Amino acid sequence: MSRVYNFSAGPAVLPEEVLREAAEEMLDYQGSGMSVMEMSHRSKVYEKIIKTAEADLRELMKIPDNYKVLFLQGGASQQFAMIPMNLMKNKKAAYIVTGQWAKKAFQEGQNYGEAVKVASSEDETFSYIPDCSNLDIPEDADYVYICENNTIYGTKYKTLPNTKGHTLVADVSSCFLSEPVDVSKYGIIYGGVQKNIGPAGVVIVIIREDLITEDTLPGTPTMLKYKTHADAESLYNTPPAYGIYICGKVFQWLKKQGGLDAMKARNEEKAKILYDFLDSSTMFKGTVRKEDRSLMNVPFVTGNKDLDAKFVKEAEAAGFVNLKGHRTVGGMRASIYNAMPKEGVEKLVAFMKKFEEEN
Ligand SMILES: *Cc1c(COP(=O)(O)O)cnc(C)c1O
Repeated sequence: MSRVYNFSAGPAVLPEEVLREAAEEMLDYQGSGMSVMEMSHRSKVYEKIIKTAEADLRELMKIPDNYKVLFLQGGASQQFAMIPMNLMKNKKAAYIVTGQWAKKAFQEGQNYGEAVKVASSEDETFSYIPDCSNLDIPEDADYVYICENNTIYGTKYKTLPNTKGHTLVADVSSCFLSEPVDVSKYGIIYGGVQKNIGPAGVVIVIIREDLITEDTLPGTPTMLKYKTHADAESLYNTPPAYGIYICGKVFQWLKKQGGLDAMKARNEEKAKILYDFLDSSTMFKGTVRKEDRSLMNVPFVTGNKDLDAKFVKEAEAAGFVNLKGHRTVGGMRASIYNAMPKEGVEKLVAFMKKFEEEN
């Protein structure tokens, strides 16, 4: 067996320890005589798995009691519609467009009411986070929407926007559990887990209880009402049971690592190794305004498409895979999520130095 250093943006690297444990439990989960994949989601054994997962997530993120944790399906993309369907009481919402995912959410919002673009960084290929300290937010906007870490462009909000009292809704897919957050500042925090937590197929929505109501837009399907899932504690229908089990294992792993303060320190240390090199290199350059750099997704270029392609090819042959940048940015992107060991980043930088010398 040989594992590569996987810099994929998602689905992405998971802790090896978690994968080994899952493998050991594949045929017989803790004496149940079956795999978690094969068991009823209504069984006592599974109830313990999902309840423990939720409790561990609450502990890690210090989630206040007036927030529900929902394990849903449909990907982060389904939330682009579910959020307005449940929250757009005044049929108006403000969107800050900082990348493709925020833009998709903004466009989807337009199907349900007036989605107002209050700021954007599209003028410079989303390479920065706009100043959000004094935005022109409509008085009757139901919420302010952000994508907190922009997976494709590699930017991250270092301070949250001034929402002027409006509910903040954040897509944190690619920075979920990468550092501590103050949950009480948000109405909804949500993300697909396949970036930094677990296997594709699970979306976690952390939502303040007062936002969970019967009063959804007309025609909202039962499955797309937060209330349906909140009332049933994420077991209204069959949940993505195996995926939730793996997420639960990752939560346990994070607790063993020392929780989110420890993860933040480690992620900062890892990102610094790569950014310091990019700042000193004459061949490779970061593409993002320094103060807005993400700890998770690091895009970079050589400025020469052929050289970029050569680098990606040689890196892959050397065991550093999925470094090709998103098709809209080009160049390279190294996603260095929680589960990427520091050693992976150090070795990548050593490889980049060698490539620079030789080319
Ligand atoms: C990957 C990603 C999405 C889309 O996730 P799906 O689960 O594929 O719908 C949305 N937002 C962000 C920030 C992402 O990184």
